[in-house]
Amino acid sequence: MATVSKGWLRQAGTCMLDLLFPSSCLACDAEIEKVADGADLCEPCRSQLTCSTGPVCKQCASRVPEIPGDVAECGHCREDKLRFDRALAWGQYEGLLRELLMKMKGDRSERMARMFSRMLLAEFSEQLTADKFDAVVAVPMHPWRRFKRGTNSPAVMAKTLGHQLGVPFLRRPLARRNSFTQKGLTRTARFRSMRNEIWSRAGYHLGAFRVLLIDDILTTGATCSEAARALKQAGAAEVTVLVVGRTSTN
Ligand SMILES: [Zn+2]
Ligand SMILES: [Zn+2]
Repeated sequence: MATVSKGWLRQAGTCMLDLLFPSSCLACDAEIEKVADGADLCEPCRSQLTCSTGPVCKQCASRVPEIPGDVAECGHCREDKLRFDRALAWGQYEGLLRELLMKMKGDRSERMARMFSRMLLAEFSEQLTADKFDAVVAVPMHPWRRFKRGTNSPAVMAKTLGHQLGVPFLRRPLARRNSFTQKGLTRTARFRSMRNEIWSRAGYHLGAFRVLLIDDILTTGATCSEAARALKQAGAAEVTVLVVGRTSTN
């Protein structure tokens, strides 16, 4: 009986909150009607976001338009030898998806990160469940950057996804130097600048773990590759990268 009344109270409370603070679209601020799964975008904005379709490189998730069907590795992967085993990306880092991902970096409410977690799960849940991961980890952020932004979106997404998939979220297995932004660097320079920027903390032994590594955007893959190297140094057997946006030129 107590559970029933608690559930009823919580539901009434949620309805009251919806009346007092109707949900607004995260992209355009338009008022939206709250629906069962907690819509965070109005319909016109939602319809602008589309998943990537077409052939991609299985390792780095970049588009390979010239070859029909997925390919095991693209030209870049053959040259660079990325340290993660494969990558999944929700969509192309362009248009509204790009705008939202840029906004998410400073979204202290963390609504955006939770919305993207739900979108990732809706698209990849079958694959992610079949993979039977042992741990979910976020690409690390330096504490100073976390402080300036007031949030760490990849960590919020990793925690939410871990919870939904029933896989432990490891909060701090990796540490990172306060590296300079990689914007404007060439591909080779990005890989060079990331060398030894990320390392695994003492006390984390990921004995033959299959790890799901979360980030917001994948560009050259240099950062995720460095994180995967550190995870494997701590014992991880396999690292799958999952991101929201994939840049089209890498
Ligand atoms: Zn909107
Ligand atoms: Zn590739």
